Amino acid sequence: MNDDIAAKLGLPHLHKGWVWLVGAGPGDPGLITLLGLRALQDADYILYDALVDEALLALSDAEKIYAGKRAGVRSCKQDEICDLLVTLARQGHRVLRLKGGDPFVFGRGGEEAQALARAKIPFRIVPGITTGIGGLAYAGIPVTHRDTNHAVTFITGHGTDGKLTKLDWTAVSRGAPTMVLYMARRFAAEIADLLIAAGRRPDEPAAIVANAARPDQQVIVTTLAGLGRAAENSPALAIIVIGENVTLAGELNWLAAAQAR
Ligand code: SAH
Repeated sequence: MNDDIAAKLGLPHLHKGWVWLVGAGPGDPGLITLLGLRALQDADYILYDALVDEALLALSDAEKIYAGKRAGVRSCKQDEICDLLVTLARQGHRVLRLKGGDPFVFGRGGEEAQALARAKIPFRIVPGITTGIGGLAYAGIPVTHRDTNHAVTFITGHGTDGKLTKLDWTAVSRGAPTMVLYMARRFAAEIADLLIAAGRRPDEPAAIVANAARPDQQVIVTTLAGLGRAAENSPALAIIVIGENVTLAGELNWLAAAQAR
């Protein structure tokens, strides 16, 4: 981004001794915000996670430190990441913590911000486009639509213990016309069974958006009853959506046309 644009918009700089916690969006590097781009240009250090596009990192001359999970194994402990953010900031560096999607949506950004607040390190939160909204948009699924759902519920499939999230699934089935599930592929069959047992229709539309907003995006449209089987055959990085809004995916498949150009 040129300095002229940044000046006209009054964008702040990432200053020495500061940490910016930035969301990079769901995949397509074009979905990062202007503040995110600014941080990439200013940073001395970038701590990035596995979901961040390489092309974004390549824009920056900063020292890059991988601080994420791979294949479900935590290769860097959360405490170590927090400590490193604090240490680098105290050394006077400009630190960018770059995460996939939005840092505050199932991304432990809140924990990192707490560590910074407690250590009295100045920080800024730069929200990103979360996969549960932007990734769905790339699949042609509006997260809300007047004709289909007036509410949307974001759910994580597994809790801190790695097991299925402890939720009142009966209450969820009644109160959540559309559910967007992160980290839920492994539990898809179990969740579908719970929802059907609680009264949701087995033929209710559901979709898996795998590698959303990436060149290898796959959209699998199915039903609640078919969700478990579909999840078994889906690539690992996947978001699940259950609800009537899924029916719009066919009509609104704009990405195919965009890719054909
Ligand atoms: N903070 C992120 C979510 C991190 S949790 C956000 O706001 O999007 C990680 C989960 O997000 C994955 O298990 C998967 O369910 C979902 N996810 C992240 N990026 C994705 C992508 N490009 N395609 C599909 N699912 C994705």
